[in-house]
Amino acid sequence: MKYCRFQTENGPQYGEVVERSGQMWINQLIPPPPEDSATQLFRGIFEAIPFAAATLLAPVTPSKIVCVGRNYLDHARELGNDLPAEPLLFLKAPSALLAPGGTIWIPPASERVDFEGELAIVIGKRASRIGPEEDVKPYIRGYTIVNDVTARDLQNKDGQWTRAKGFDTFCPVGPIVSDEIDPAAGVTVETRLNAEVRQHGTTRDLIFPVAALLRYITAVMTLEPGDLIPTGTPAGVGPMHRGDRMAVTIEGLGTLMNVVG
Ligand code: MG
Repeated sequence: MKYCRFQTENGPQYGEVVERSGQMWINQLIPPPPEDSATQLFRGIFEAIPFAAATLLAPVTPSKIVCVGRNYLDHARELGNDLPAEPLLFLKAPSALLAPGGTIWIPPASERVDFEGELAIVIGKRASRIGPEEDVKPYIRGYTIVNDVTARDLQNKDGQWTRAKGFDTFCPVGPIVSDEIDPAAGVTVETRLNAEVRQHGTTRDLIFPVAALLRYITAVMTLEPGDLIPTGTPAGVGPMHRGDRMAVTIEGLGTLMNVVG
């Protein structure tokens, strides 16, 4: 299923997204996932609306955002880093989440803010110490798109990444969550800056694929339903400036669009 979270006159709601006669629609309301206790399903009549007409919200309410750095060979090389022997983990603050269409704010503290288009895993079931032979699929609710916005100058200056990755609006996410794609088979990740293609990769080139990441992360910390795992970015990262338009497209997940302010 594909779903989104969107604003209605009855508050935020989750809706199933379907394609009908060449157009995307929010077909029906669905119950909120268990971690989003603030949202109540509206039980009145809902008529399908065009997806393009909806005021979209971030489709996840994670307790944490566990990111993976340098997970594509070509991107590790472009930043002058060695190929990692293990996944490189860092956290992004949930307060950085930004809805599709929202404005990425360039903070005064930084002179170089980069885009990083990424496939992200959405956890569906509490996961701790997933075994080497255990199937990871039951723990995955689906996938979405993240722009892992990074203040590159502060990342280099601070020596750790909390500030550089954690500014408000630095985690655009959406527009949908889908369990209908298979990253292991290879899905295309493409980032455009003002309509110009700047990143073009495939999840086939992940150094540590989805299953390896989930085993590695859950050996460290328990993942909760709704937790978000951006899996790393392909080569081509670069700076954004006020007035720019960002678009990250992943096959089967649509396009995450944001403006820069
Ligand atoms: Mg990243």
